[in-house]
Amino acid sequence: MHRALLLFSGGLDSLLAGRIIQDQNIEVIPIKFITPFFGPDENAKIYAREAGLKEPIFVDITKQFFNILKSPKYGFGKAANPCIDCHKLMIEECVNLMGDFDASFVVTGEVLGERPMSQNKNSLKTVAEQYENIVLRPLSAKLLRETALERSEVVDRDLLEGISGRSRKRQKELAKLLNIKKFPAPAGGCVLSEKQFGNKIKKLIDLDMLTSDLCKLIKRSRTLFVEKYNNILITGRCESENQMIQDFADELGIAYFMPKNDKGSYLIPLKEAASEEESIFYARITASFNDEKGKEIEIVLSDNSQSFNVLQLDREIINKFLFT
Ligand code: SF4
Repeated sequence: MHRALLLFSGGLDSLLAGRIIQDQNIEVIPIKFITPFFGPDENAKIYAREAGLKEPIFVDITKQFFNILKSPKYGFGKAANPCIDCHKLMIEECVNLMGDFDASFVVTGEVLGERPMSQNKNSLKTVAEQYENIVLRPLSAKLLRETALERSEVVDRDLLEGISGRSRKRQKELAKLLNIKKFPAPAGGCVLSEKQFGNKIKKLIDLDMLTSDLCKLIKRSRTLFVEKYNNILITGRCESENQMIQDFADELGIAYFMPKNDKGSYLIPLKEAASEEESIFYARITASFNDEKGKEIEIVLSDNSQSFNVLQLDREIINKFLFT
């Protein structure tokens, strides 16, 4: 029996691609890649199981992903999403895993023309150019050049599909035919394709501060960039975000700004303030997010090394520092 690795996102396309191949009496092992921007996802396990596929294997590719994020050969999409490089990387990583699983090819759920940047004919060719004969796209195979897998009858080309475009009509028909009832709604891409988050990530890259922990922290908190000091600030909007800042700072052994009255946000600058003036400025921003209004507020550094009695800054000034 042949065995294939399925590049598995958890979405309908990859569920269908997996089933189409599995139903040809080929063992399919779903591989779900993980970075701080996507996966691991418990739902992916459920969708795979309900579709009759094996449980996905999660593989962390953060290190390799950061490399392409810092310098994507094929550029970014609308935000910080390096989609072509990302597809290419995932296919390469799957190919690299083939030996570990004794698999003879890789299956993807790519659909020709479904995504303008990463799934047109050129980009499909680009992402798997050197793997033409071991990467199979069952959903669009009939519109693509026949692979060696089809020629040698490892898979039956007649049972593959010829889907193109963004309408999901055929995918829905196939889901019915294959009795796949549970699948997620189509998503517009990962969090990197969101403009605001993408801008935060690009700034982390500019400042050479791209780490998993920071990516997670800026994903879930209010983030500001102060150009004058070339620094990113993170402030909590609620108790749990303050706790997150506290945990992050404790782990790295750095100090954060907090109100003495404990009635508002904590603030952590990603680079330590380089002057008294800079520290006072951050203390004033911290004071601006305090529940007490219109008076001097005492802000302290969490390591008790400094304290500042400062006035709040105008919200209009603060708003200019927020990522949009
Ligand atoms: S949207 Fe995100 S996960 Fe999807 S291809 Fe683009 S970068 Fe990769």
